[in-house]
Amino acid sequence: AYIIKVKDLFFTYSDGTRALNGVSFAIEEGSRVAMLGPNGAGKSTLLLHLNGLHLPQQGSVSVRGREIGKKTEKWVRTAVGMVFQDPDNQVFSSTVWEDVSFGPINMGLNSAEINNRVSKALHAVGMYEYKEKPPYHLSYGQKKRVAIAGILAMEPGVIVLDEPMAYLDPSGKEQVVNILDDLHQRGITIIIATHDVDLAAEWADHIIIVKDGRVLANGGSELLTQKK
Ligand code: ADP
Ligand code: ADP
Repeated sequence: AYIIKVKDLFFTYSDGTRALNGVSFAIEEGSRVAMLGPNGAGKSTLLLHLNGLHLPQQGSVSVRGREIGKKTEKWVRTAVGMVFQDPDNQVFSSTVWEDVSFGPINMGLNSAEINNRVSKALHAVGMYEYKEKPPYHLSYGQKKRVAIAGILAMEPGVIVLDEPMAYLDPSGKEQVVNILDDLHQRGITIIIATHDVDLAAEWADHIIIVKDGRVLANGGSELLTQKK
């Protein structure tokens, strides 16, 4: 079944830059999607529509058959988790534990459930032992993992990551790939935006190539092997 459907989406920024020019695609539940395209193609703008951070100016986005509406709706933030490219935009509390508990607290969960989720999420990304540390003492890769944990703790069915491997060293990349594999095993739908064709070819089962605010190609990983 499709978990996300994007239909005829257009988006123009207030300065007149047209970032999306009629984008349509659908994503199967449980799939690993890589969105590829050059800088400025519209990937980030598109991703921001998947959890309601941008609202469609024209066209529609739906999650599990439910359309993301004109006003900010809480359900979609819980259904679709967003990991930004730069963890400094996402990790800001005074300890790692506090940071990861931010989402579950906002969801209004009870404290036993919050503790349980934060602990599980920190274990999942290998950062449990850092739980009392201030995030600004961590390396870039560790902050990235804390940012991912903060999303995991909300237990979304879909996780969107903008350039998850950017600025990571090889071991940091491997850790993130392992986390993504683990999430895939658990049935979570994962969508990443990347410039990295090799990563996409190796990791994804669904490739969407975006350019100039349009979908150039949409299909399986054979799209990339044919091009090489
Ligand atoms: P895009 O979505 O097009 O990749 P971003 O707004 O995320 O653009 O980033 C713009 C540019 O800023 C990036 O292409 C990169 O050159 C630089 N940049 C972003 N985050 C970092 C970072 N943490 N460290 C160094 N450079 C960065
Ligand atoms: P990508 O993530 O593929 O690099 P973006 O979605 O960031 O692409 O950008 C798509 C287009 O929208 C680019 O032309 C970019 O310069 C423009 N853009 C992105 N963010 C803004 C903004 N806040 N205001 C104006 N134009 C923007």
